[in-house]
Amino acid sequence: MAADCLFCRIIRKEIPAKLVHESDECVAFHDIDPKAPVHVLVIPREHAGSLNDISDPAVVGRLALVAADIARREGIAESGYRTVINTNRDGGQTVSHLHLHLLGGRHMSWPPG
Ligand code: 5GP
Ligand code: ZN
Repeated sequence: MAADCLFCRIIRKEIPAKLVHESDECVAFHDIDPKAPVHVLVIPREHAGSLNDISDPAVVGRLALVAADIARREGIAESGYRTVINTNRDGGQTVSHLHLHLLGGRHMSWPPG
């Protein structure tokens, strides 16, 4: 846990969020500034600054499978969705707690900007 990390504070419920999943390992909640009709962030409970800090593949595996489960529950599994992990400056990461974006409910263009 990082005392002043925004997402650690959401995990501790010091900051409100619209939670859609809570387990021993992961938490998921709606993005405050959604970029698609469905925009959920999936995060590990244990603080990690970015993907660069992960050595256990199960951490990322769990994020991906939680996202797929939420996609089914949100009704976008068949139409499709995008999962994204932004890392550091060039990747566009703005919150330094590893998170996987689940975006769906509209067509996604490629390549990303
Ligand atoms: P990044 O840019 O680091 O890949 O993604 C960070 C995401 O966190 C952004 O999409 C941003 O809208 C979202 N975000 C930032 N602050 C908050 C907050 O206080 N609550 C929630 N639910 N989302 C946030
Ligand atoms: Zn954190």
